[in-house]
Amino acid sequence: MYWTVAWSDNEIDTYYKDDYRGSYKLLTEPFCGKCASPLHLGASICNWSYAHPTSINRIHAIGYYIPVDSYHRSGASDFLSGHIYFSKYNSFKGEPLGLAIAECIRQKYQELAKSDFIVAVPRFSTEYHDDEVSDEPFNPPDILARWMKSELDIPIIEPLKKTREQRMKDLGLEERQTVVNGLYRCVSSDVIGKSILLVDDVSTSGCTMDECAKMLLNAGAKIVNGFVCGKTDPD
Ligand SMILES: [Zn+2]
Repeated sequence: MYWTVAWSDNEIDTYYKDDYRGSYKLLTEPFCGKCASPLHLGASICNWSYAHPTSINRIHAIGYYIPVDSYHRSGASDFLSGHIYFSKYNSFKGEPLGLAIAECIRQKYQELAKSDFIVAVPRFSTEYHDDEVSDEPFNPPDILARWMKSELDIPIIEPLKKTREQRMKDLGLEERQTVVNGLYRCVSSDVIGKSILLVDDVSTSGCTMDECAKMLLNAGAKIVNGFVCGKTDPD
C-alpha cells in the first residue's frame, strides 16, 4: 500500500508515501437520494430518477466527475476528476480511489459495509486499456474493488459478463437506455439472497449500473447498491 487517505469535513485528503498529494471534494448537499445528482433544495430525488424507476437501490459517489476534456477547456482543475480519468490508464491511481470509497462507507454509509459481496462492473475484452505501469490490459473497477476489499473485508465475486463492445461516452440519455438492454449477463448463482455492492469508476445516467443491478436481482440477489468514484450530471 503506497497511498493513504484521511477524512476531513468536505474532502478526503490523499497521501502518497506520507506526502500530501491533493484532496477529493465530496458531494455537496443536497444531492439525489437515488443517483447522487445535484438537487434543488426541497426535493429528495432528481427529476431523472423520478421519471426512471430503477432496479438499483441507490447509487453513491465520492464526488462529482467533471469530464477532463471539458475542465481543460474551461481552465479549471479538479483533483478527483483527474485521478478518475488517469485511473483508466494507470492502475496505480485506482488505489487512493478505492481507499476513498471505503472511507466514505465507513464515515457516511455504514450500512454498505454489511454487503455480502463487492462486484466490479465488467468491461468487454476489447474495451480494456493497457496499464501504463504493467503494460497488461485491465478493468479499472477491478482495482477499486481490490482496495475496497482490503479495507472493508468484503469478498469480491465476478458474476457479471459484458456481452459485447459498447461505449457509452458519446451517447445521449435515451440512447443509453436503449443500448444497455442485454449488455450484461449474470452467470453465477452465488448472488442468490445476497446484498451486492456494485462498483464502477463513473456514473452518468446510471443506466449501466441499473442494468447490472437488474441482472443481479433477476439471478436472485436480495439488494444491489452502487458506488462510483464520480457522478456526472446527466444533462
Ligand atoms: Zn437522481
